[in-house]
Amino acid sequence: MEVRVAGSGLRDNLTNMESWRRADVPVLPGSGPAPRIHDTATGALVPAAAGPVATLYACGITPYDATHIGHAATYTAWDLLVRAWLDAAPETPETPETPETLETPETPESPETRETPETLETPETPESPETRETPETRGTAETRKCSPSPETTQSPETAAPQASSQESLSARSARSRFTVIYVPNVTDVDDPLLERARRDGEDWRELARRETQRYREDMEALRVLPPTHLIGAVEALPIIERLSARMADRGALYNVDEDVYFARWADPGFGALSGPGSACGFDLEEMAELAAQRGGDPGRPGKKDPLDALVWRAERPGEPAWDSRFGRGRPGWHVECAAIATDYLGVTFDVQAGGSDLVFPHHEMSASHARVAFAPAEGVFARVYAHAGMVSYHGEKMSKSLGNLVFVSSLLADGVDPMAVRMALLAHHYRSDWEWTDAVLGDAQARLARWRAALGRAEAAIPGTASAAPGADSIEPDAGFGAPGTGPPSAADLVLAGVRARLRDDLDAPGALTIVDRWADSLLAEPPTRITPRDVSGARLVRDTVDALLGIRL
Ligand SMILES: [Zn+2]
Repeated sequence: MEVRVAGSGLRDNLTNMESWRRADVPVLPGSGPAPRIHDTATGALVPAAAGPVATLYACGITPYDATHIGHAATYTAWDLLVRAWLDAAPETPETPETPETLETPETPESPETRETPETLETPETPESPETRETPETRGTAETRKCSPSPETTQSPETAAPQASSQESLSARSARSRFTVIYVPNVTDVDDPLLERARRDGEDWRELARRETQRYREDMEALRVLPPTHLIGAVEALPIIERLSARMADRGALYNVDEDVYFARWADPGFGALSGPGSACGFDLEEMAELAAQRGGDPGRPGKKDPLDALVWRAERPGEPAWDSRFGRGRPGWHVECAAIATDYLGVTFDVQAGGSDLVFPHHEMSASHARVAFAPAEGVFARVYAHAGMVSYHGEKMSKSLGNLVFVSSLLADGVDPMAVRMALLAHHYRSDWEWTDAVLGDAQARLARWRAALGRAEAAIPGTASAAPGADSIEPDAGFGAPGTGPPSAADLVLAGVRARLRDDLDAPGALTIVDRWADSLLAEPPTRITPRDVSGARLVRDTVDALLGIRL
C-alpha cells in the first residue's frame, strides 16, 4: 500500500545539541586490552568493537523529568565502555582476514564520507578502519534468558595478570588506541514530554530545554565523558524523514487513518535480536505484551499486524507537527533512533546500548527499520546489543508512574559528593538489577573516603609530594614501568593491570573496585614510617587509574 505523499520535504536544519564539558582523562602507561561485552542477541561475550574505530549508539533521555539514578547507572555503564576503549589497543588479528566489504547500495553518508567525524579523544592514529575481526563467540545462543545475571567473575587474584603484567604493558605501549565515536540521542518530542507539558501548563520546548540542561549538568558532575554528538529528535527530523522515505520506497509502510506504520513482514530478519532463536527467545505473544507495556499499540484496529510500529504520527490538535512527505506530524520513537544511529555511525556500527526495557520493542524495531531501509545490504545496524539492568527503589523499579524516583540533581543539591554517587553505581554490575538504598550510598561514601585516605596517607608520608596534580608526573622511574626485568611489578602496577582486566571482561566494575579496595586497605595498614617513595608514585598511578578507567576523581 502506498503512503500518501504530501507537501515538500523538510529543510535540513542540523545543528547539533551541545553536550557538556569534558573531564580531563589521565593517559595511563601502556594500554589496556580491547573490551569485550555481553551481546543480548546471542548471550555471548564478544569484542565490543570490530575494528580500531569503535562506534556506540545509546538511547538517551526523554527530557520531561530530571535524570534519575536508573538513567545515571545506564550512562555510567556506557561511559565505562568509552573509557575502556580510549585506554585500549585494538587487537591485531592473528591471521589476516579478507576485509568485509559491506554492500551499501544506497547508503546514507557513512562515517567515511561525512565530513570528518569529530571523535572522542584520539591520542594516536588508529590502524586502518577496514581491518575487522570476526567475533569469536557470536552465534552460540545457548541461554534463553534475555538478561541473565552477570557471570560470576574471576577472583581479583586470578584476574590481575601477575608476572607478565610488566612485559605485556610494555609490549602494548607502542600501539595505538581505539578511536571512539559515541552518539546518544535526546527524544525531545514524544508523548510523555507533551503530556507532562500539558499537565503543568508549560511550553513543551521550554520543558525539554530545561530538563536536557539538567541532564547535561548531572552527566558532567558524574564525570561521564561527553559524547561525540548529542542529537535531539527535533533537529534530526530531516534524517528521520529520509530513513522513513527509504522504507516507504521499499513498500514497508502503510497508513492507518492518517498515521504511518511499519509492516514488520517487510523485514525477513525481524526478531533477530529478541525473537525465537535469540538468547531472549520472545514469542509473538510475549512481544505483543511487551509492546503494550512499553508505549506500543498492538491492539489498534486497522493495523496489519499487532507488532507493526508507528513511524509517523499525524498532527493532532494542540500537538507540535512538522511538514513531511507523510503529511504534517511527528516521528515515532523507533525510527528516530534508527535514523540517527545510521546517519552518524554508518549503516553498520558496533554497539547499540540501552536499558534492558528497550530490548523489545524499541531496539528490535529500530534494527528492523534500518534493515529494510538499507536492504539488500548485509550486517545492517548494530553488531552487538548491550543492555543495562534496572534500578529499583522501595522494592519497585524506578518509574515515573510509581513516583519512586531518586534524582541525581536532588542528591547533589543535598550535598552528596557526585563521586560517591558514581561509586555507588559502579558497585553494581551494569547488567544487574539492583536496589538503591541509603546503605548503598553509605557504603559508596565510605569506600570513597577509604581510597582518598590511602592516597592522602601515601602523600603525607613523604614531605613535599602532596601538591602533585592528577595526571602530572605520576609515573616515576621506580613505578615499575621501566625496562622489563627491572623488578617485580608494584602493587600499583597490579591495580592498573587488574582494573583493566576486569573492565575488559564485560565492564566488571564491581570486580575493579575490589582490586582498588585491596590496595587501599594494605596501604592504610602500613605504619607511615614504612611508606616508601615507590608507594607514593604507586598511589598516584592508582589515582590516575581510578580517574581514567572508572571516572572517579580522588
Ligand atoms: Zn533509542
